[in-house]
Amino acid sequence: MAGRSLGDRQRSEYPVKALAGRAAEVLARCGLLTALEAADRGTDRVRVVAYHRVDEYDAEPDLDPGLISASPADFRDQMEAIAHHYTAISIEQLAAAHRGETPLPPRAVLLTFDDGYQDFEAQAWPILRELGLPAVLFVPTSFPDVAGPGFWWDRLHAALMRTDEPRLDDPIVGRIELEGHEARRGAHRILRTHAKSMPHAEAMAWLDGLIEGLAEVPSLHRVLGWDALRRLASEGLSVCSHGSIHALCTRLSKEDLSVDLVESKLRIEAELGAAAPPAVIAYPASASNSTVREAVREAGYEMAFGGRRGIDHMPLDDPFEIMRLPVHRYGTALFRAQLRPVVSGLGRVLIDGRERRRA
Ligand SMILES: [Zn+2]
Repeated sequence: MAGRSLGDRQRSEYPVKALAGRAAEVLARCGLLTALEAADRGTDRVRVVAYHRVDEYDAEPDLDPGLISASPADFRDQMEAIAHHYTAISIEQLAAAHRGETPLPPRAVLLTFDDGYQDFEAQAWPILRELGLPAVLFVPTSFPDVAGPGFWWDRLHAALMRTDEPRLDDPIVGRIELEGHEARRGAHRILRTHAKSMPHAEAMAWLDGLIEGLAEVPSLHRVLGWDALRRLASEGLSVCSHGSIHALCTRLSKEDLSVDLVESKLRIEAELGAAAPPAVIAYPASASNSTVREAVREAGYEMAFGGRRGIDHMPLDDPFEIMRLPVHRYGTALFRAQLRPVVSGLGRVLIDGRERRRA
């Protein structure tokens, strides 16, 4: 829409987050955040920060902009805050603490990135390396080096933005108007939510037909290849599982889930060899339940990262549902504020109530 930047749209779409951001800026300006951080000597908590993409908001208009967690400039600010006020730990350190071998350092933060997009290497990793911060990249392991069409949420976004159709008539979701950018983003939200409620194969077939009916979409495959992942691993990155086909674990049959989990674990071990980190997984789209957690344990994983917002204590309540702190284009003050336990608890109520869980 003319005259309204993407940032403006974000602010109006998420008023609670905008308000929280302003409150956090006040806390930062009066020095309270720094004081809280300096006073925190606890070694019993682990903050797991969850990013998806780090890129300029208009870098790739065909890709779903909802997956951009931070611009490179905001990301640098956030990582400098981590370097100054917290201790970034590796997945090996978390695994050792979980096994009771070595306690965590005070103010421990684990930095994680989902989906394995190329912008991780281009934008995030140079900043992490410069600041000496370890990180974990969760990769859906059937995607690297496959000349596929890309992730469904990106293809759906591109189809909705490119289509000449004024509305969508679908036997499953009914009629959805497509006039204007906000209506099309609204359509993406509705279709995305519905797709995530269906068995995986059924959802993919439905989306393929829907996308084909809307517009021609070029390949949007942007996942790093294994050579790049090995290079990053040799530079210190931990490359871990995000499932194999990025299916929601709750939307696969028991047999298919087991195959997906085992294949993904074996693929990482085969591709990375001695550089393979401890076997951990981040659930695609944060979807899990007790059956999924049991399947993950049976497949030989040691820990799994879920979607509940919050900060876990050591020893971990449930190593197969470790809480994370998602970043959704936060200013640095709000980013720092949510690393405080009281604020992250509030965020679970206020922000997660408004923002749907993402991929
Ligand atoms: Zn994902």
